[in-house]
Amino acid sequence: MKSTAVRVCQNCGEKWSVWETWKKELSFKDKECNHCGEKQYMTAATKWLNVIWCILSVVIVLQVKEKTSVPLSFIFPVVLFLFSVGSSSLIRLSNEKQEI
Ligand SMILES: [Zn+2]
Repeated sequence: MKSTAVRVCQNCGEKWSVWETWKKELSFKDKECNHCGEKQYMTAATKWLNVIWCILSVVIVLQVKEKTSVPLSFIFPVVLFLFSVGSSSLIRLSNEKQEI
């Protein structure tokens, strides 16, 4: 069952929850599907998207720092959290490892 929707296991077609995907992303381990146990990988497009997210979050942090008096120690964790949840929610999965 092939699906181009985000967070859908390409082996069993089950959708992963955002938190499930987020936890898997943070652990830096192989992402095994909770439903079928098959290993899933991020697609190359998803990896590129993550690179863009990274650049974007640095830009946001610098912009907020420049324009407001909010301390960096506050902005950084907030942006980092939003970035990791945001990128997890947009992950597309693949059965094969894809290099970028
Ligand atoms: Zn699965």
